[in-house]
Amino acid sequence: MKENLEIELNKQISEFGKDSRIKECFHFEKKLCSDKIISAHSIQNNKVLNLLESEVNGNLKVLSFLYLKHNKFGKVISLKPIGKKSASTFFGFCNYHDTNIFKEIENNEIDLNNDKHCFLLSYRAFAKDYHAKKETLKGYKKNKFYSITHKLLGLNLAEGSEIGLRDSSFVKKRLNKIFEKKQFDELYYLTYELDYLIPIALSGSFNPNYSYKGKKLNKSSDINIIYEFVNFVIHPTTSGKTLIILSCLPEHEKSVLFLDELDELKTLKFEKAVSSLAIAYIENTFISPILWEKLGVIGQETLLNEIENTNPMNRGQYKGFFHSEINFFDLKFKKTAPNTV
Ligand SMILES: [Zn+2]
Repeated sequence: MKENLEIELNKQISEFGKDSRIKECFHFEKKLCSDKIISAHSIQNNKVLNLLESEVNGNLKVLSFLYLKHNKFGKVISLKPIGKKSASTFFGFCNYHDTNIFKEIENNEIDLNNDKHCFLLSYRAFAKDYHAKKETLKGYKKNKFYSITHKLLGLNLAEGSEIGLRDSSFVKKRLNKIFEKKQFDELYYLTYELDYLIPIALSGSFNPNYSYKGKKLNKSSDINIIYEFVNFVIHPTTSGKTLIILSCLPEHEKSVLFLDELDELKTLKFEKAVSSLAIAYIENTFISPILWEKLGVIGQETLLNEIENTNPMNRGQYKGFFHSEINFFDLKFKKTAPNTV
């Protein structure tokens, strides 16, 4: 990409961001909402992103699977270091709800045996994804590039987004109902704990195309078929653990099967499968520049190729579960926890 093309592309991305901006609280108790919708963190800023940041050219940075550097041919050549303050935020909660509903997981060590903790992390992961879907749809309708210059493309993309949002809206209602009833054990959970810290964090929700054993799940062009969700969180802790949470609605049979097949895997296969999902499905994934360094040149190239090959435009080429060559949970990527020094 020539320099002016790159500038033009960045300008378009920035305009799309402005045109698609929505500020709206995800929580059900609207009468308690404060007027101010804040830039809420989908991943804990002070506790989790702190564990990931390290120096790049004298500044503390983290790396994300969303911010990519391209060469002049449009090929991904690196991850762009970003500051943790702007990382992983979205305008999806009002000040009151963001402060109050997540208090319990902000102020306490996360306990995977506590369904409320697992629910709150899943709820926030889904809210982030739901908000992004709603914003993208607004962008396709409002942004000049899609509504005027490339109208047909815009209409097609908007149509796909409407269907995605329809399926998400159902899950939003269900999650808010569970929250209202405080029946946190109603979600179907698969949790996993490593007793060491890996500097990777993510929070998101996705529609798996295939189960681990290769059963086709969410991969249909029939608009009457509802896509099912899996909420996904990787959460390193200051006490030196790495927590993995996957969850879904119990009536979503495809998602339940997806989690059950993962649950049957032995340690190494499970960790590799989770690494593969982080690469293939979640842009809201962050790693430490230290982990990036440890990947080495070949590992870095592998990661960049895998991110590119599994983006939504290219993912269709895989006729089964995508297997990454990288295992982020390998002990070589371990980081010493601050509380144990
Ligand atoms: Zn609110």
